[in-house]
Amino acid sequence: MTAGKGAPEPGRGSMCVTQSEEETYRLGVDLAGRLKVPGVVLMSGALGAGKTTLARGIAAGLGIPDPAAVHSPSFTIVNVYRGRCPIYHVDLYRLEGGRDLHSIGLEDFIGSDGITLVEWSERLELELPGALVVELEDAGGDTRRIWILEAAACPGRRESNRRQSGRRPKGSSGASKRGKGKTHGE
Ligand code: ADP
Ligand code: MG
Repeated sequence: MTAGKGAPEPGRGSMCVTQSEEETYRLGVDLAGRLKVPGVVLMSGALGAGKTTLARGIAAGLGIPDPAAVHSPSFTIVNVYRGRCPIYHVDLYRLEGGRDLHSIGLEDFIGSDGITLVEWSERLELELPGALVVELEDAGGDTRRIWILEAAACPGRRESNRRQSGRRPKGSSGASKRGKGKTHGE
């Protein structure tokens, strides 16, 4: 993993370059050490950028017994894992507007007793000061550029979210197969 390579835009926090899934996982393990309960990690980036891999590493760093069980909760929207605290793993890929967002019950667990990991956070229209913001970019092959910043250090983010809201991601069927609160590792 290379830290700070390629100079991030001014004020954007730090950037790491990873060259393998394992390195991104390790970065997640390291990031877990920076998290305090209640905490939120907002992850954005295209399909295959490494959001779930990073979430797996964070969950491992937070002490879940079986990190391999961490998968994108696309059909359930929220998976709950138990490490040294509850870990709420959210995927907003198939989110359909504010009503769906409300049905997830995000406000029930953000700020509660655990760490919330959000994939496709660009679809989230909520102000979450203090959240750790992670932007992942596939730079070709196995290379990923990963920016890590605090929500407060990210002006303009809301504007960019508004531009993207309502746009269905490519490949999303919009099928409503979700359940809520699938629990693993307890
Ligand atoms: P996302 O949740 O963003 O859709 P995943 O973590 O599920 O992404 O998948 C990332 C995919 O990219 C995996 O198939 C993984 O093996 C591959 N990959 C290749 N290089 C990397 C890397 N540097 N970091 C993370 N994943 C990588
Ligand atoms: Mg994913």
